[in-house]
This record gives sequence, structure tokens and C-alpha cells, in this order.
Amino acid sequence: MKAIIIGAGIGGLATALALRQAGVDAVIYERTGEIREVGAGLSLWPNAIKALNKLGMGEAIRAMSIPQLGGGIHTKRGELLVGQSGEALRQRYGMPVVVAHRAELQAALAQAVPADIVHLGVQLTGFEQDADGIMARFADGQTVRGDVLIGADGIKSAVRGQLFPTSTPRYAGYTAWRGVAAFASDPEATYWGESWGHGERFGLAPLSNGRAYWFATQNAPEGKIIPVGERKAYLQQLFRGWHDPIEQLIANTDEAAILHNDIYDIAPLKSWVQGRAALLGDSAHAMTPNLGQGACQAIEDAVVLGRALRGTTDVLGALRAYETGRLERANGILTQSQRIGMVGQWSNPAACWVRDRLTKASAGLQTRQLDRVAGYEV
Ligand SMILES: Cc1cc2nc3c(=O)[nH]c(=O)nc-3n(C[C@H](O)[C@H](O)[C@H](O)COP(=O)(O)OP(=O)(O)OC[C@H]3O[C@@H](n4cnc5c(N)ncnc54)[C@H](O)[C@@H]3O)c2cc1C
Repeated sequence: MKAIIIGAGIGGLATALALRQAGVDAVIYERTGEIREVGAGLSLWPNAIKALNKLGMGEAIRAMSIPQLGGGIHTKRGELLVGQSGEALRQRYGMPVVVAHRAELQAALAQAVPADIVHLGVQLTGFEQDADGIMARFADGQTVRGDVLIGADGIKSAVRGQLFPTSTPRYAGYTAWRGVAAFASDPEATYWGESWGHGERFGLAPLSNGRAYWFATQNAPEGKIIPVGERKAYLQQLFRGWHDPIEQLIANTDEAAILHNDIYDIAPLKSWVQGRAALLGDSAHAMTPNLGQGACQAIEDAVVLGRALRGTTDVLGALRAYETGRLERANGILTQSQRIGMVGQWSNPAACWVRDRLTKASAGLQTRQLDRVAGYEV
């Protein structure tokens, strides 16, 4: 069986690993000329770590990441609304939540995949399928035939565009900055996690090698991107007076390395599969980053797809089994992420006060919701 994977992001690379383990001849086509992930930190919850263990990546992940020292939701003044220690998370899920540098995770996955199966600088333009196979067409004129085509080509997926042309990214109403700063982690500190203001949020997590990852959000019209050179000053103004060490983290960040992107997701799809073509990762279920689960879900997808294709010649049945095994869970997390973001971005001070009090009062409910997401083993 030959699988054509479109995209060498975390989803595409994890899929190549899973399919090769399942005995499928998997090849990747990536439009950029090199595998180079910008990005900053990426949280990997126990559900993703268990899936990465199944792909043989457990050791590599442990080596590049550090366990989280606990985390919670705070007000911008630093009052803890709901939180859990790293030890409590470890006890609940059998392992800690870790944060890795996104580029380091992607490089480790790329290293685990044979270099000769990754074709760089080739952009999919479309595909056609018949009873015997599927043929991918690329911008340089080449065509490739296989038994199955997996669209792991991100939120603006060309594969999704052909299968489900009405599905387009939807703007969440807020914009986000991300950065990595030199920062000595304090194991006793309780400020890790996310802090809520009125239409703004700030999140922070320790990284390996004396660094911390942070992100910040603000309600904003779509497309209002602050130019490089002005981002640090803008954020220093926006988060002035927030609890420690937020101002210090922004100050420690190299201006040129601050990323700024608007936040998008897609409306949950009713199907990810048509015949021999299937969607995976953000192309199937791009979600807002509020639960830190987008890449985690792509990794779960990869494991389930590998399992479905192992030892079978029934491609259509295997892809249906993949969809059945994944769609409801990933769509549920997409919707949950969207709702958390909507409430987290509230800006009316009275509504925010009520939100914060309710959050504090409903810690048990939130733990149970988190259990369903992070305590899952694919
Ligand atoms: C601010 C922010 C914070 C986040 N934080 C977290 C987090 O903490 N934890 C977490 O799990 N997730 C997080 N995510 C989500 C995560 O980044 C994504 O879900 C994940 O990277 C999706 O991987 P992917 O491989 O599906 O898509 P992508 O990473 O988008 O990869 C798609 C690949 O396909 C290629 N491609 C596109 N079109 C074509 C084409 N036509 N032909 C060939 N190649 C093509 C692209 O070049 C790209 O390399 C966050 C996202 C954002 C925006």
C-alpha cells in the first residue's frame, strides 16, 4: 500500500511515522523548501505523549522538554482562580504535561522519518481518484499515484479545499503573540499557566535550557498585525501592571523573535474522508489554541490512521474506521477550545468579574473536563 501525505508539519511527519510502522509505504510532499518551523513553545498533554510513545518518540520528547511545574488560571493581578500542581497532574494522568519548543519537536519527528521519503518544494494543486487508486498533481507539473492520499496540509488545506470547498478558516476575534525568553524557572512559583484580563490574556510555561515560553492575546479586528520592531513596546504597554513575571518575560524577549498571528479555527466538519482521500491534523480540525491541543490531536490522528491501515487492502473501509475513531473527539475539543477562548476574551469588567468567580467555584467541573481531553489514551 502506498500513501501520499501532503504536508510535513507535526501532523504529516507523525503520520509518516505511524504509517511506516504499519507497513505502509508512506511518502511526504511539502511545499516549502525546508522543514523549518517557526513558532515558540508547544504544550504536549499526556494524551499526546502516550500517542508519541506509540510512535517510538517518547525518549526524544522527554529529552527535549521539561515537565510543567503545575499551572492554573489567574487574574491579571495574580489571584489563582483554578490550578493544579505538576505532581497532581502527574498523579491524574500518570505523566506530566510537558512543553517543548515547536521547532525542536518538528526536527525530532523529521529525523525519525527516512530523509528520502520527504519531498520538499512540491506543492499539491489537486488530485483525482478512481476505483484503483488516487493521483496527486503538483504545481511543478509532476503527478504521483498511490492508494491513499492524506491531507496534512494545515488550516488552509488544499485537500480540504477540494473535498469540502465551503469549509474556510473563521476568525476567532482575537490576535496572539508568542515568544521565548531567557528565564530561570522557579520550581516553587505558582504563576505558570494563563492569566485573564478584560479582553486580553497572557500565558507562560517553563521551557528547557533556562527559557520560558509565553503567549498573549487581545481582542482585535482581523488583520491588524503589529509590525516587527513595534511589538515589544506594544505588549509592554498592553500588559503593564500585570502580575510577575509577565513584564519581565516581555522585557527578556528578543523583539525580532516575537511572533504575531490572528487566531482562526474551522467549523467542525461532518466528514474528513471521501473515497481514498482523508484529512488529518489542522486540515481536518483546526482549533483555537485555548486547550493547547491542536498538535496533540494531530498526533492522535496519526496513531489511529496507522492502526486502521495496518495489514489491510481495504483502503475505503480503513479510512472510514479512522474517521469513526477520531471525528467526534477532535470536533468536541475544537468546540470546547472555541468556547473557552470566547469566555477568556470577554472584555466587559462586570462580566469578567462573574466569569472569574464562577471559574473559581467550578474547579471540580473543569478538572473533569480536562480529564476527558488529557486523560485519554488513543
Ligand atoms: C498561537 C498558537 C499556539 C498553539 N499552541 C499549541 C499547543 O500548545 N499545543 C498543541 O498541541 N497545539 C498548539 N497549537 C496548534 C498547533 O500549532 C497545530 O494544531 C499544529 O501545528 C497543526 O499541525 P499540522 O501538521 O496539522 O499543520 P501545519 O503545522 O500547518 O502543517 C501543514 C504543512 O503542510 C504544508 N502545506 C500546506 N499546503 C500544502 C500544499 N498545497 N502542498 C504541500 N504542502 C503543503 C505547509 O507548508 C506545512 O508544512 C497552537 C497554535 C497556535 C496558532
